Amino acid sequence: MSKQTLSFQAEVAQLLHLVTHSLYSNKEIFLRELISNASDACDKLRFEALNKPELFEDAPNLEVRVSFDKDAKTLTIADNGIGMSEKEAVDNLGTIAKSGTKEFVGKLADAQKSQAKDEGSLIGQFGVGFYSGFIVADKMVVETRRAGLKPEEGARWTSGGTGEFEIETINKPTRGTSITLHLREDALDYAGAWKLKEIINKYSDHISLPILMEKEEWKEGEPIDAADPSKGTKGGGMVKTGEWEKSTPLLRCGRDPRKT
Ligand code: ADP
Repeated sequence: MSKQTLSFQAEVAQLLHLVTHSLYSNKEIFLRELISNASDACDKLRFEALNKPELFEDAPNLEVRVSFDKDAKTLTIADNGIGMSEKEAVDNLGTIAKSGTKEFVGKLADAQKSQAKDEGSLIGQFGVGFYSGFIVADKMVVETRRAGLKPEEGARWTSGGTGEFEIETINKPTRGTSITLHLREDALDYAGAWKLKEIINKYSDHISLPILMEKEEWKEGEPIDAADPSKGTKGGGMVKTGEWEKSTPLLRCGRDPRKT
């Protein structure tokens, strides 16, 4: 299938409008929602692979990788779970199958009118977590390939969170799903290790799956005066080493913040 532009189901469009036009006091819940979807996708793969071990292909270790690109202003959440076929991407990310969605959209609108603080929990509760990405992103790009399908049977789903989305066939050698969020100007904090680790550690305690991030190391800058090292250096900063490591809890004042 070549590139196609499709319209969202009316309820999705309505929900997206609410999500993108609300001033979330709790923006960061989007990451919890996307990691939780990644974790579900890995559970589904594990289950299907009980009878079909070949679905693991050559990657039996299930994991989520969270990465960011400060220059491109993007954040990517990638899993090697069950993935989606092109049809599943259209169905799952273009419509809401669950009954009760209208009721939910109504409740969310009421919560917003009354400036209630529980919009975030409403979103989680009704399982429309994927769309919460649009709280921080003005464009989402999903690249996915269902386990068991050929690399050339991958799909790219792209949307700006308004009425439509695009779907096209792509080559995706690795199974699973990667979701790239093009961050809004007021959400650029999420393209940074500190903020991401803080949220991951706050919300992902119940996730048994390893959540990996790109390892960063401090790199000294250039000497201010090569002839006089006592003048120090300038331009140092954190650089990515190319390796991945488990997102570790942040320690503040030597204590685990989750235990305070
Ligand atoms: P829910 O997860 O509660 O069903 P979402 O709106 O978060 O609702 O996601 C809609 C659907 O999209 C999911 O049910 C699932 O089929 C699919 N989906 C979302 N994220 C992923 C993912 N990372 N891997 C595979 N499928 C996914």
